[in-house]
Amino acid sequence: PDTAWVNGRFLPLADASVSVLDRGFLFSDSVYEVIPVYAGTPFRMDDHLQRLARSLDALGIADPHGIDGWRALLAELVEVNGGGDLAIYLQVTRGAPSRRDHRIPHDVEPTVVAFCQTRAAPDPEALAAGLAAITTDDTRWRDCHIKSTSLLANVLAADAARAEGATEAILVRDGAVLEGTSSNVFAVIDGRLVTPALRPTILPGITRGVVLGIARAQALDHAEVDTLTPEALRAAEEVWITSSTREIFPVTRLDGASVGDGVPGPLWTRVRGWLQAGLHD
Ligand code: PMP
Repeated sequence: PDTAWVNGRFLPLADASVSVLDRGFLFSDSVYEVIPVYAGTPFRMDDHLQRLARSLDALGIADPHGIDGWRALLAELVEVNGGGDLAIYLQVTRGAPSRRDHRIPHDVEPTVVAFCQTRAAPDPEALAAGLAAITTDDTRWRDCHIKSTSLLANVLAADAARAEGATEAILVRDGAVLEGTSSNVFAVIDGRLVTPALRPTILPGITRGVVLGIARAQALDHAEVDTLTPEALRAAEEVWITSSTREIFPVTRLDGASVGDGVPGPLWTRVRGWLQAGLHD
């Protein structure tokens, strides 16, 4: 996949660029989405586009395309990139005015960038091993329900995980587990599937919604909880993270200790099976 879309035209990804005055670059005044594509078909595209619309609305950026425009644009983007298994990345910034100024300009056109990356299905061996995670203090701002490109706290926390030999950092604020740096969090506690209830400091993940839909459809004992403490997470039978690119991934080590038996749990196996069965819907 080597063709990008920038402000109304397709061009080679290597040649795609935006102005240094772009407010996405200068201020992270910008929002984004990542949409997985399975065999050429975007999964839950409308959910992603609705979340994009909410993010744009929260920042007061006019939606440059509208849902039908996005659908057509992204279909063409997938097509020119050869279809297959991809992840669409799209970003909308406030635009590039003629000077750097904190104050929001109201006379610029948003910048729109979209491109695709290859997306490998989670490797079976990696899934069987599960991943290691750490818990860490959440230093992000308070409006994480907006999918903004202000991701510095996320990338630093993810790097702290890497430094400890882990692959995800689970963010904790005021004694409550919120989400991963690029994922939502689920746990199985006393046989019940739980995830932190949505609040402004949690991104409403599309995969999270899919998993909760499965839990409802399968009548699993489940709950969205106000407070999931890091202690309860460490004592859980199972811990999973969810995201559009990682689907549902088992966490088998947390803060250096095994989660449950240290292998992916039985509920994960079942819910993953249901997710797989529905992925191409
Ligand atoms: N939380 C954060 C902070 C994220 O960056 C992501 C990945 N975009 C998610 C949750 C998972 O969201 P989704 O399932 O929509 O990919």
